[in-house]
Amino acid sequence: MNVLVLNCGSSSLKFKLFSGHHLKVVAKGIVEEIGRSKSAVKFYKPDGSLIQQDSTEIRNHLEAIKVVSSLLSFWEIVPDLSQLSGIGHRVVHGGEFFTGPVLVDKKVIEQIKTLIPLAPLHNPANLTGIQVALEHAPQVPQVAVFDTAFHQTIPESSYLYAIPTRLYEKHGVRRYGFHGTSYSYVTKRAAKYLKKNYKCFSCICLHLGNGASAAAVKNGKSMDTSMGLTPLEGLVMGTRSGDIDPAIIPFIARNLGLSIDEIDSLLNKQSGLLGLCGESDMRTIEQRVETGDDQALLAIDIFCHRARKYVGAYMALTGRPDCIIFTGGIGENSSFVRQKICQDLDWLGIHLDQSINHKTKGLSNPATISSKHSTIKVLVVPTNEELEIARQTLAVLEHIDLEGAY
Ligand code: ADP
Repeated sequence: MNVLVLNCGSSSLKFKLFSGHHLKVVAKGIVEEIGRSKSAVKFYKPDGSLIQQDSTEIRNHLEAIKVVSSLLSFWEIVPDLSQLSGIGHRVVHGGEFFTGPVLVDKKVIEQIKTLIPLAPLHNPANLTGIQVALEHAPQVPQVAVFDTAFHQTIPESSYLYAIPTRLYEKHGVRRYGFHGTSYSYVTKRAAKYLKKNYKCFSCICLHLGNGASAAAVKNGKSMDTSMGLTPLEGLVMGTRSGDIDPAIIPFIARNLGLSIDEIDSLLNKQSGLLGLCGESDMRTIEQRVETGDDQALLAIDIFCHRARKYVGAYMALTGRPDCIIFTGGIGENSSFVRQKICQDLDWLGIHLDQSINHKTKGLSNPATISSKHSTIKVLVVPTNEELEIARQTLAVLEHIDLEGAY
């Protein structure tokens, strides 16, 4: 049993190979700068140590997948890609078509194509990944796993924006939500860790990475999430603004003369932590805070203030959740951010054990960071989106129920 997970960007192809029924990682790597004269190929052992690194011209994604195939064969991991049990693809936008993973066929490809206007940067690259994998290994079943699928359970009252309904009916303008693969993984792991039946499990989950979002899960189903039509809405992120007054957009257009594309770039690439303190990486921002940098501290305060607001709002939606989950690079590693988000929430039943919180980083298993007095548990659960894609791929291929896997 070998499952290859592919995550294609417009000029990159990330891959991870899982083997056996327990889906152990056997190799991973990345091809970057595809289409440029010096593409970079990196191939790693499961523990992250580099096996091989090359710099060569790789003109397109088809050539990139051939490189992956020959690396796996050269290092005697898989003779060639036709020997795989399946290939799982990360697809960012599944719109309203997909509520779970699906076996790729012509209809699925057409549906992913029709969603390109909703994810113009991601879906074309994800589709390219599917097409080159089909071309290179046509007999291997391919499964598409969607970032939006987990949130297809959220009710109309959350997913509709208060704008004319024809924008939803004719153009699909609604909240879709993202990070679904991560939420599916960490919420199931948390339920298992707390020995709760997933169908009765409720939580508030904060996925805090370069991209950041929150989700309210009740009885094992997403009932609200902070990202919307696109991954721009909601929390403050590395370079994205998250929630702003929508009137800021016409204000900037009229008063600063920026075009729609320039404003799009301003909000997606020059805002968030970067816009607030000139730096998007939380580690570096925390180092600046340690040297007494007020601007860096303010950026973290704004980041945490927004996340706290969502925790409060989602408490109202979930009732009393079983737990609050922190995940993503910041959620898993920054005790400073976790402490600021949970500060003075004792009255809601949320209370951290500061000593455990400060020691918790770089985990490979879930951990509790709340104190004995906390009526709501606070957990750090490391995410693993590739493993979730591999599991969902296997579940589609073998028609198995996933719940036992966590
Ligand atoms: P992505 O959304 O790109 O997958 P990640 O989940 O890898 O991002 O998260 C990246 C973020 O996590 C960066 O802001 C990084 O600084 C932050 N991060 C990683 N390790 C730490 C750490 N030890 N302390 C604080 N922040 C960290």
